[in-house]
Amino acid sequence: MKSLLCVINKKAANGSVLARLPQLEALFKEFNLKTQILDLTEAGFEDALVDCFESFKPSVILGVGGDGTQHSLVNTLEKFRTLGHKIPAYAICPFGTGNDVAKSIGLRPGKRHLKKIIAAAVEGKACDFDVGYVNEEIERHFVDMTSFGLDVQILKRRDTYTRKIMNTPFRFIHGYIIYFFAVLMGLKNSHWNCRILLDGKEWYDGKFACIMVNNCRIHAGEFDLTPNALFDDGLLDICLMKSRPAFMWRYIKGWRHMPAFIRERKNPLNAQAKEIKIISSELMPLQIDGELYPSLKSSTLTVISEPMKMMRPQ
Ligand SMILES: [Mg+2]
Repeated sequence: MKSLLCVINKKAANGSVLARLPQLEALFKEFNLKTQILDLTEAGFEDALVDCFESFKPSVILGVGGDGTQHSLVNTLEKFRTLGHKIPAYAICPFGTGNDVAKSIGLRPGKRHLKKIIAAAVEGKACDFDVGYVNEEIERHFVDMTSFGLDVQILKRRDTYTRKIMNTPFRFIHGYIIYFFAVLMGLKNSHWNCRILLDGKEWYDGKFACIMVNNCRIHAGEFDLTPNALFDDGLLDICLMKSRPAFMWRYIKGWRHMPAFIRERKNPLNAQAKEIKIISSELMPLQIDGELYPSLKSSTLTVISEPMKMMRPQ
């Protein structure tokens, strides 16, 4: 019997994760799994996790929630890995809005795909999955992406709008509609200056509207801005958008349902590197895996030497 540790984020997907838990538990029974459930938003979560590693000894950890949940949980697991704990294989149950990581490993989100999601977690293929790292003052790991500039301003607006409608009858509006309004309003914001070094060599010096650094190929659930991104090649993919019109154009072209010959056209402002250093004289807005962080003047992004084991569909 396989042992599965299910880590939920009861605040993810506007709190609807708890409502879906009975369906998940029924599937755990169907797959004959020994399970333990922890909530990462509860006080004492990290102690409970260590207890679980020692007594329950899970063969797989299932992160239930959106990309923000995976971000938080993977950072906790990386902390314990550096402390010498053996971390089991990781699996994703995507209950967020974008679900970039899940889509990038071939999972389809949604209630009707739940059985396939659990099958991938317990009967799937364990593959290497790179983990990115943002150092300087931040020192955080990332599984999906990190971005600077306009993309972050839009995210800030989306979070503000989401908070504002939480206690109104409009709280059931889909996340993508709120995001769309945030894009329209966020485009008023300006640009920043920076230098970018890729593996120690100068690659760019000038103005930018947005810098995106991807570990996974899919961004914001629907966009493929770095078509060469692979999550297991030990490289990060950078996509530079110099101006607001370029930002809009890249998103239109990068819609993942666009024909591949439009989406995947070679772009000199896309590149790959093991280490990406971004230096600016101004504070650059920053987000990591969809979570807002304090603005930074410089940042170094790398891939950590030991990839994690990720369960993906056979
Ligand atoms: Mg890569």
